[in-house]
Amino acid sequence: MVKTFKIASIPGDGIGPEVINEGLRVLRALTEKLGNFLLEVEVFDWGSEYFLKNNKMMPIDGLKQLRDFDAIFFGSAGDPRVPDHISLWELRLAICQSFDQYANVRPVRLLPGISSPLKNVSTDSIDWVIVRENTEGEYSGAGGRVHTGHPEEVGLDVSVFTRSGVERIQRFALELARSRKRKKLTFVTKSNAQRHGMVMWDDIFDNLSTEYGDVDIDRMLVDAMTTRMVLNPSSIDVVVATNLHADILSDLAAALSGSLGIAPTSNLNPSGEFPSMFEPIHGSAFDIMGKGIANPIGTFWSACMMLEHLGEHNAASELMIAIERLTEERKVLPSDLQGNALTSEVTDRLINLIMGQN
Ligand code: ATP
Repeated sequence: MVKTFKIASIPGDGIGPEVINEGLRVLRALTEKLGNFLLEVEVFDWGSEYFLKNNKMMPIDGLKQLRDFDAIFFGSAGDPRVPDHISLWELRLAICQSFDQYANVRPVRLLPGISSPLKNVSTDSIDWVIVRENTEGEYSGAGGRVHTGHPEEVGLDVSVFTRSGVERIQRFALELARSRKRKKLTFVTKSNAQRHGMVMWDDIFDNLSTEYGDVDIDRMLVDAMTTRMVLNPSSIDVVVATNLHADILSDLAAALSGSLGIAPTSNLNPSGEFPSMFEPIHGSAFDIMGKGIANPIGTFWSACMMLEHLGEHNAASELMIAIERLTEERKVLPSDLQGNALTSEVTDRLINLIMGQN
């Protein structure tokens, strides 16, 4: 029987629509080739343009509209005409937090044919998964401003760590590490400076990790972790960190693996109660918007993660193999990967590879 999945596509801002459009072309090609599943895609025009017309990033009942989809395929949110805290909080974070997408999973690999800015690294030197807590911590939204505009003004952002929130993300990362070949987990913290919430992270991890004797565990302060990523990349496998720490580490990771344009991410609601969301790690990149040169590979890889999540493992594996052939042959690559192809030409080549054409 042919299964049908309902996908909500939110292209959003900047280069979001350019790369999501290409991602949808690839997904269509895959479904045509394989014929064993269908994607019913509904596109939502939410984002900063929508905000400029309606004074909100999505309709009041936006979350209700998304609730029954099997997955969300997201581009980016961010526009110089809209304050960042509005574009981020009223769309992407509203979805992640309301749909309890607590596990932000960011695979980082040096794909074949891609060179890292690091010297002497081979393809297998960088094969990491960064697990980011995605619903609380430094992004809890707790805080405020007092005496606004006066000399005595105070601005507060309060990191909120809950025992249940910390425990579930640590368990997720431990399980993920257990499922991988090397079974290694680096636990990132900053409990020397942040002596309350982060010390609670440490305490919870001390307890939980005793259940995972088969996982090879080490601990790093987040500042030292940046150095290790640069100097000893092959020592890393799975990494777990707070919302802000992992966000910063994963931008560094993306650059070390070749370009921000390659890296994918998934925002998972592991219980399956709500839809999960898949997006390239990069943002709206307004400097290259409309030029047709955005790298769509991060979006293709995110599509691959979405197919895995939907249980279409064969389709996901065909797509990943085609992405790796695309980077390995180095014939048609975008400018951030030292090629000269347009976004649509990269997609055309990938579709040819999927279809088995030379
Ligand atoms: P936002 O504020 O939405 O996060 P940003 O422009 O500040 O967006 P990114 O979109 O993450 O940040 O990108 C930083 C830079 O990396 C961009 O200015 C762009 O030059 C480059 N870049 C990002 N994504 C891509 C891509 N897919 N293809 C090519 N270059 C990219």
